[in-house]
Amino acid sequence: MELVMSAFPVVIIGAGPVGLAAAAHLLNRGLEPLVLEASDDVAAHIRDWGHVRVFSPWQYNIDKAARALLEPSGWIAPAPEGLPTGAELVELYLRPLSRLPSIAARLRLSHRVTAISRVGFDKVKSADRASAPFVLRVSTPTGEADILASAVLDASGTWSQPNPAGADGLPAIGEVAAADRIAYRIPDLLGRDRMRYAGQHVLVIGAGHSAANALLDLAQLAEQSPGTRISWAVRSTDLRRTFGGGDADALAARGALGSALRRLADSGHMELYAGFKTVAFQQATDSLTVTARDGRVITDVEQVIVATGQRPDLTMLRELRLGLDPWLESTAALGPLIDPNLHSCGTVRPHGAKELSHPEPGFFTVGIKSYGRAPTFLMATGYEQVRSVVAFLAGDLAAAAEVQLELPETGVCSVSLAGSPVNADCCGGLAPAGADACCEQDATAKAAGEAGCGCPPPTGTKTGCAA
Ligand SMILES: Cc1cc2nc3c(=O)[nH]c(=O)nc-3n(C[C@H](O)[C@H](O)[C@H](O)COP(=O)(O)OP(=O)(O)OC[C@H]3O[C@@H](n4cnc5c(N)ncnc54)[C@H](O)[C@@H]3O)c2cc1C
Repeated sequence: MELVMSAFPVVIIGAGPVGLAAAAHLLNRGLEPLVLEASDDVAAHIRDWGHVRVFSPWQYNIDKAARALLEPSGWIAPAPEGLPTGAELVELYLRPLSRLPSIAARLRLSHRVTAISRVGFDKVKSADRASAPFVLRVSTPTGEADILASAVLDASGTWSQPNPAGADGLPAIGEVAAADRIAYRIPDLLGRDRMRYAGQHVLVIGAGHSAANALLDLAQLAEQSPGTRISWAVRSTDLRRTFGGGDADALAARGALGSALRRLADSGHMELYAGFKTVAFQQATDSLTVTARDGRVITDVEQVIVATGQRPDLTMLRELRLGLDPWLESTAALGPLIDPNLHSCGTVRPHGAKELSHPEPGFFTVGIKSYGRAPTFLMATGYEQVRSVVAFLAGDLAAAAEVQLELPETGVCSVSLAGSPVNADCCGGLAPAGADACCEQDATAKAAGEAGCGCPPPTGTKTGCAA
């Protein structure tokens, strides 16, 4: 019997903010979504960092199609300028959305996708491939099952795949053996996990927003719990990106986070190890010794927090034909737009179905997973992604191509640290005063009505600027 594609739903993997938004857009277009969520509740990853306050206000965090479903139910939108914690994002927006009858009926909790292929096709077979439905192998409370789909949107995020502490991208020597003293991501230092860290010598490894959040919470913990000692190890010697755009950041809370970290670094209340490339953890009596490639050591470390970012889990996609950026593991077309080697300001051209597709027709990576290892993803980006992908699936190619996104920027390149010269190569130098851009070349491109760009690429690498 021949399988008719339209008989199957569009399966969305993951009920995070982008997966749920995708479901809302599909319903809005009269298409049938089915959301498969590994956890027993929605937004499992955000709930894990529920104690962290986000830096984008509510106005950027609510998807338009989701809002259109929620409002008739009597839901009251939070004040647009408020900054929710992760827990509030779930309580005040994502859980109410997931409980709307139209979504709840199409949401399967405790359904973990473990593999995807196409019915009757392995990865090699080509003829008529696009007309075969997808088959998703799913681990459910009642055992393994296969679910068929007309198209698949992978919105499964990256939070469950933390990068190791090792500076080479591999676990450092002894990292696995030291697991009982190492936590990955952002522990709840002032709440649930307080007792583990109070009065301890804590080393934070990493330079992103997660590390910043952990360090600032540790500083508070140290004020309340004497004996708490903070060390911070960063692979780079240039902390401008970590300290961020300050007042120049269009997201005030993101700028403030970097500025607060900078004040903490200057305060002398923590020991900063810049250019520290972690290579080994060695067990000592009741502590660890952490060694860098250059031979420096940090001794008497009792707890380590590794906040070195995440990477996408590609194992369940093994049987699909993927087009990935070689180093970011983002979708191939997105790589040059978001490469953190080039895009110091996090400015990203609007993008949609075209950039999120793969050589496997009908399969799209959306949400933070579409960025692979790049750290600059915003929910607002994901909402525009799924609007475009769903328009494409509905056959509205004009709407799919018309990607529009006004993203809040950061003026990272305009920041000069004391004793750290401004990078003269940064797109020709600093942006002119008052320009909403990270550097001069970016400002010039935007003034000419173009999308702007990051810093110019080193010779032989990808282009950094919008054509
Ligand atoms: C600490 C922190 C702060 C952030 N702050 C902001 C901010 O201020 N503003 C902003 O715009 N963005 C912010 N982000 C970035 C980003 O918007 C969030 O990470 C957001 O949660 C990404 O949404 P998502 O839907 O793509 O994926 P996720 O939220 O990661 O959701 C993925 C879902 O997929 C499920 N899943 C995973 N694997 C499977 C599987 N195999 N089968 C079925 N289900 C699966 C997970 O359980 C999870 O529920 C922040 C990120 C972090 C980590």
